[in-house]
Amino acid sequence: MHWAADNTVSRMFNSLISSIKRWHNKSKTTDANGDTPLMSSEGGRGKPPRKKSPGKSTRPKASDTGVSRVIIPRSDHSLSRRDVSRAALTVMKRLQEGGFEAYIVGGGVRDLLLGGHPKDFDVATDATPEQARQLFRGSRIVGRRFRILHARIGREVIEVTTFRGHHSDGEEHEAQQSEHGMLLRDNVYGDLESDAIRRDFTVNALYYTTNGFEIHDYTGGIRDIEQRLIRMIGDPETRYKEDPVRMLRAVRFAAKLDFDIEPATAAPLKELAPLLRNIAPARMFDEVLKLLMSGHGERTFELLRQYQLWQHLFPDNARLLDNPEALALTRQALRNTDTRIREDLRVTPAFLYAALLWPGVNAEQQYLESKGVPPVPALAQAAQKITSNQLVHTAIPKRFTIPMREIWDMQSRLPRRSGERAFRLMELPKFRAAYDFLLLREDSGEIPAGLGQWWTAFQQADEEQRLQMVRDLPRNGAQGSGKGRGRRNRGGRNRGRQGGNRQGGGAEHPSN
Ligand code: ATP
Ligand code: MG
Repeated sequence: MHWAADNTVSRMFNSLISSIKRWHNKSKTTDANGDTPLMSSEGGRGKPPRKKSPGKSTRPKASDTGVSRVIIPRSDHSLSRRDVSRAALTVMKRLQEGGFEAYIVGGGVRDLLLGGHPKDFDVATDATPEQARQLFRGSRIVGRRFRILHARIGREVIEVTTFRGHHSDGEEHEAQQSEHGMLLRDNVYGDLESDAIRRDFTVNALYYTTNGFEIHDYTGGIRDIEQRLIRMIGDPETRYKEDPVRMLRAVRFAAKLDFDIEPATAAPLKELAPLLRNIAPARMFDEVLKLLMSGHGERTFELLRQYQLWQHLFPDNARLLDNPEALALTRQALRNTDTRIREDLRVTPAFLYAALLWPGVNAEQQYLESKGVPPVPALAQAAQKITSNQLVHTAIPKRFTIPMREIWDMQSRLPRRSGERAFRLMELPKFRAAYDFLLLREDSGEIPAGLGQWWTAFQQADEEQRLQMVRDLPRNGAQGSGKGRGRRNRGGRNRGRQGGNRQGGGAEHPSN
């Protein structure tokens, strides 16, 4: 999601709050028992008849979570149909015409209420995936754990999920749990209310429908948006055990929205953090990208450390963070990535992973060299070892490990600039990423500043000046070769950058 400028966000937020308050006050006057509507058992106006599932009266209700259904009418919220993508509107319309309910839910509603631009819209419906598929040509049912429909409208794909229900006996083939309480499968269908309480956080369980333009809130999501809180629906420990990725999601939304994690939701995090090891590395890779490459990576990193989750994502990085250079390099890489995203520049996981794994690679290389292994094979062995350690935790697709290794390999070539070498290096596809990586190492104090500034000047120089720069190199041509590894850059973080044309270093340059 790309956020509007801060003042726009706070203006829209204030307008949301005043419209909620306005609605709150209005409803108060009509509420016979004096409860505030947010907490009352019946909620706001315009309430459609509640669907009852026969014989299932013992099942938990939204009211068990302390807050009951509230329906916020069109006049009392700031969400407008115009803010919703045309594709999502089409999907809702077609489902409704087919006789089904259809709501936008999740980030689409949450982010619009907060004045942001959602990155996508998800639709929830009472149509089963098969029923919904009939309505959208070219749509596909995907997923096994959670079967959902990908409805294609023009070039957009809208995820359509069927309302989840409560599990009961006789439905084992539709819902399965591991011995740790992890949900292996969740394809039991239900109604809007049961769907709401199976979602993760209250702010993610707000439903908007174009049928009446209301927002349905079963879990106190509006209250938590108002109080800027990430609150788990239900018992946090049970919900984290069902799906440990929810721990990462709590931190992700807190960082992205600048919300606090409500104390009971935060309480189990440290103790349950090791459950992340049970998540498939491929899913973890996707989650890591959402955590670190959505524009709030630095803040997310700090929160992940605070809740002791980071060590289960990047153990080789985590164990070296007592080293100031490793910490500085990690923070700077994330900060640069955030800046590039804000500036709409391209970012790649290859660069970020190269940076996050580098402290481990560097330490291992030094260790091997101390055992007498020459530098080039030491780097190759260290790279191999740290990369395979990481793959146990998060997958890294080959298309990223290859450029990651190239960035590391280039670090020993950048100091060698004599003769034709500097000219040839600059022509290599990975030059720009390797140069950005060198600046990152200098900025963090891992190596002394100097070489980066030389390369900055070389790129800006004309042909004649370049030849002169190469002629002026000291004889061995390896000045600033990174031999001073471990020495702090006393000249300040920005030395070597002056007048440079660097692009931020958070990721490779588009020309690569
Ligand atoms: P964004 O798309 O901005 O990252 P989002 O809230 O839309 O945020 P998605 O991953 O797109 O997040 O999921 C859509 C919705 O599905 C969520 O808002 C939430 O209601 C529900 N959801 C997603 N993942 C989980 C989960 N692991 N457990 C429970 N509910 C989930
Ligand atoms: Mg979403």
